Amino acid sequence: MDPKLIAQANLLSLLNELQEQYSVLVPIRKGETRFYEPLSVLKPQVNQGAGANPGSTLNDFVVGEVRAFEPLKTFFFQAKQKVAENYQDTAPRKQAKPLCIVGAKACDLKGFKVLDAVFMGDDYLDPFYKTAREENLIISADCTSALEVCFCLSLQVDPYPKENFDVNLSDIGGSYIAEAGSDKGTRLLEKHSGYFQEPGKDQLKKRDKQRAEVAEQVRNNIRSNGVPAQDRLAGAIQKNYENPLWKEEAETCVECGACNTICPTCHCFLLYDQLGDRDLVRYRLWDSCLIKDFAKVAGGANPRPQLWMRLRNRFEKKFDYFPKVNDLYACTGCGRCILACPGKIDIRNVLKRNVENVRK
Ligand code: SF4
Ligand code: SF4
Repeated sequence: MDPKLIAQANLLSLLNELQEQYSVLVPIRKGETRFYEPLSVLKPQVNQGAGANPGSTLNDFVVGEVRAFEPLKTFFFQAKQKVAENYQDTAPRKQAKPLCIVGAKACDLKGFKVLDAVFMGDDYLDPFYKTAREENLIISADCTSALEVCFCLSLQVDPYPKENFDVNLSDIGGSYIAEAGSDKGTRLLEKHSGYFQEPGKDQLKKRDKQRAEVAEQVRNNIRSNGVPAQDRLAGAIQKNYENPLWKEEAETCVECGACNTICPTCHCFLLYDQLGDRDLVRYRLWDSCLIKDFAKVAGGANPRPQLWMRLRNRFEKKFDYFPKVNDLYACTGCGRCILACPGKIDIRNVLKRNVENVRK
């Protein structure tokens, strides 16, 4: 299907219409950060008196700009999921209104490749993740700017979506180029064709120019931080396995696990049994490989008792093990872990140190 054009007002009408079928989540600008909020709670923009706090309004809704604070995995691989009760598996419930997530960015969509390999691979199928992947609708968007921490291009992720979306929007100022990326997306554009028109050549050129400009911003970030390209990472972690850099980098780690929970590709979980008055309930909870007990086994043995070993393991998993078994780096260059880390451990710097040490 050829690209279409949709005016801003029509997009809002379309999203309002989609609320009959979906719970629509949209990115909201709050200072420097973007957070997802339900479209249904946004108020129309009204003039407020001094000191009034109107909550989020439609004026805070952004389609383009940069990725949201929350990784997209939050809506597909939930932080806490009941998976069994009294030894019986819990089946995923069909949602009366699945999610329609608007404005998802390319780095988070790349995260699906990692999560799909884990939760929908040949060996294991997670019914909760699979149901969410099938039910939810993704209306993604190009990045129209880049954060200083964005380095997606060094992991071969362009700052505009190429896959894993139903419809993608490119904000060209007052209107959007819309492209279908799945059968579901094509059907959506066809069903609501009254909102769309054909884009002109100049509008398509504007989108392409904007894409090139944002890519250049990301390349500048990569250059100024000396982030190595993906093809230079192969083997680097193994070659530095005994390098003191891991102990040095781990010095400021406080073992909070924020780098794991904020990451769109981190997917480790633990199963936790909770005994209530009458029922035994099993939950699947997000886990963090930086936490001391992560790898502890029955009997108390721990293969990674030192914090620096766990930090090294995080990099080994993302940049060595995962590419070996899945031909895929488990990092999308979203930069979230850089901002989240209270120890100021910068993944770009750790990768740079690994590659530099290989050269020496
Ligand atoms: S490791 Fe850091 S930069 Fe890479 S995807 Fe995860 S949060 Fe983003
Ligand atoms: S976010 Fe930083 S301090 Fe927290 S566990 Fe990760 S590396 Fe350590």
